[in-house]
Amino acid sequence: MNTETTNKDFVFDIQKIKSDYPILQREIRGHKLVYLDSGASTQKPIEVINAHEEFFKTINSNIHRGLHTLAEESTNAYEKTRTHIAKFIGGVKTSEVIFTAGTTESINLVAYTWGEANISEGDEIVLTDMEHHANLVPWVMLAQRKNAVIKRIPITDDGRLDLTDIDKIITEKTKLVAVTHMSNVLGTLNPVKQLAEIAHKNGALILADGAQAVPHMPVDLLDLDVDFYAFSSHKMLGPTGVGVLFGKENILDKMPPFNMGGEMISEVSFDRITWAELPHKFEAGTPNIAGVVTFDAALTYLDEIGMDNVHTYETKLTAYTIDKLLQIDGLKIQGPNNAINRGGAVSFTDKDLHPHDISTYLDSKGIAIRAGHHCAQTLMKRMGTIATARASLYIYNDESDIDALFDALIAMRKYFGHE
Ligand code: PLP
Repeated sequence: MNTETTNKDFVFDIQKIKSDYPILQREIRGHKLVYLDSGASTQKPIEVINAHEEFFKTINSNIHRGLHTLAEESTNAYEKTRTHIAKFIGGVKTSEVIFTAGTTESINLVAYTWGEANISEGDEIVLTDMEHHANLVPWVMLAQRKNAVIKRIPITDDGRLDLTDIDKIITEKTKLVAVTHMSNVLGTLNPVKQLAEIAHKNGALILADGAQAVPHMPVDLLDLDVDFYAFSSHKMLGPTGVGVLFGKENILDKMPPFNMGGEMISEVSFDRITWAELPHKFEAGTPNIAGVVTFDAALTYLDEIGMDNVHTYETKLTAYTIDKLLQIDGLKIQGPNNAINRGGAVSFTDKDLHPHDISTYLDSKGIAIRAGHHCAQTLMKRMGTIATARASLYIYNDESDIDALFDALIAMRKYFGHE
């Protein structure tokens, strides 16, 4: 485990942390904003906001091509983020860290390059019943193009992966296991390391969707031994439009490039084109330079807290949230009813009210949650619902936010005549 994930000296002062986020001072419909939609996108601390401004004020320039000072400084800042990420996710090689536009693009990159080259008729791709569309649609479409077969790991009624028949699901026919590390709907933390072992034993690769995991806990990719891993900056205090694809070097080396154009080539003639070294082979064109450079400030902010502290704090707050929601008649938590092996995405349904009505009512009290299918329609079907309401937590939330949610939900039931 890299040392930056632990910070024994950090004293968790929630008021200080809250004050780092200017947007949390906002009033919404006459109430102080209670932001419980970090699973969709997190708010940004002042350090990140300032870093973005600073980039444009001081070093703005294109990267990897100019020979002038600004070009050198922005290139160095961009590559510094890459080095930081490599360390942040367990000490992987910088050549294995590819910048993309987000988790969605990272997974599409693998589907369209590795997938096109390696999946053939009859091959099996194993998903789970709790995937976000970003880790489902690219594989279903690939399977359709190739006449490959999609298999699924089922889930239990309380929202955990059911591994009872795993030896029948992952077999020597499996070419890829694609699994979410943490469910954006249920909050469930999946046993990725165990699944990686099973996949590898059967000669398959494994891709984990870390969009909801990396922001909330220490993640060590060397320990998990995954072949591909994807996550997004905007879900971990950084800007939108920046994501990461990790891939093992020996696999990335053999993959064809994704986007074609400038910066991803070594030599170009009309007869023959050769590719740039990793990771540049996968970074065609001008990337989101300001976003990547700013992402470094988000990583530094998280380092200062320590990802172990982030995880411990959120686990306690998740337990508090679950405990509170369980006290409300008519409400059902969709997902594990305890904070063990789970993150702070807490979905719930109300037996009398549609999630959209819940969200609209809460908004009238200044509380932002998410309602809908959460880009997980197949999971909704498995759960026997079309939508849920979801409160999702981050380090700037505390018990007062959950109390506000609790009070508003009680008032809502009364307002709609369901006491
Ligand atoms: N995977 C999971 C589990 C997610 O929660 C999300 C976003 O909500 C995504 C993938 C897609 O991330 P992005 O929209 O940043 O590409």
